[in-house]
Amino acid sequence: MTAVLGFGSLEKLPGMLGSPETRILLVTGGESYERSGAAAAIEPLLADHPVTRFSGFSVNPKLEEALEGVDRCRAADVHTVLAVGGGSVMDTAKLVALFSRQAGDPRAIVTGKAPVERAGLPVIAVPTTAGSGSEATQFAVVYVDKVKYTLTHDSLRPNPVIVDPGLTRSMPPRLSAVTGLDALSQAIESFWSVGATEDSQAAARKALGFLLPHIEAAVQAPDDASREAMSRGAYWAGRAIDHSRTTGAHALSYGMTTGYGIPHGHAVALTIGPFIEFNAGVEDADCNHPGGAAHVRATMDALLGLIGARSAADAHAQWIERMEALGLPGRLGSAGIPRDRVEALASGVNLERAGNNPRRMDADATCKILNAAA
Ligand SMILES: [Zn+2]
Repeated sequence: MTAVLGFGSLEKLPGMLGSPETRILLVTGGESYERSGAAAAIEPLLADHPVTRFSGFSVNPKLEEALEGVDRCRAADVHTVLAVGGGSVMDTAKLVALFSRQAGDPRAIVTGKAPVERAGLPVIAVPTTAGSGSEATQFAVVYVDKVKYTLTHDSLRPNPVIVDPGLTRSMPPRLSAVTGLDALSQAIESFWSVGATEDSQAAARKALGFLLPHIEAAVQAPDDASREAMSRGAYWAGRAIDHSRTTGAHALSYGMTTGYGIPHGHAVALTIGPFIEFNAGVEDADCNHPGGAAHVRATMDALLGLIGARSAADAHAQWIERMEALGLPGRLGSAGIPRDRVEALASGVNLERAGNNPRRMDADATCKILNAAA
């Protein structure tokens, strides 16, 4: 995979688009594309190419919406999909690119009843937020009848990727906070996940090294140094979960987003503190990791070292302070989930991600984690 990172990397885009005959589907956000300055930066670079445009889909993209993009893609006989935007734009562009090349029923493919038969069109990703990491992963999130699915395919991984922090300059503070917490949570979950490898842990370490020292400045008083660190950190967090996938905190987050409208990154962050304590307390009897409880506890100790916490309880307390310093409620209650609805969130748990958590999340344990976050 080719990735160009850093200020000015957008200049590399024309060389990556190929000859002027390359027909492009440009997938962007709505107003944000203009407002963020992305349009002004990107449009002149596309002047030589036939460009078809696609925007105007939901923040949590629906399959029907992606299929409109597929129609447009096929009608224009597009060669390359160019995604310029945040996580929803990336995911939608990836879906459009994939489904443009499939003959099978998209609904059957998303729900796992039919296979992906061919690689999708190539996707070039140019993120304008620092957070989702979707530019670096083989996953695309899509909603069918309000149910969230994650499609996984090798060809969904964008290539090349251009991460130019200059494009994140107009991110409002709340968006920086929410997407930054998503990136941080992804790096933390990836580090302890059952699916972690040496490579994914190295990527997660790299992500934490960029994100932890800069997230507060990126929200409260962003400058180019913090923007650059957040863009790089989000990319490396994406690389980390691309191998390892996410775990418990992501598994419990989806009900908070669909049921209470809590933005994804905030919803995930709400149980990271309790999960640090929960995973640090693993025993052989409830260990999900093939390496055993001692291995998981050593991983958790390494993580506490990386985040600069004395103990799991200290890390939990620090995490809540961090969320509040970023201007976001640190607990389920202050985030708008009533106390008597907290345990009901356990029923929405994503089992695949829960199975990637290093300590087994049975019904009891899940309720305890949710109550610790309440
Ligand atoms: Zn996430």
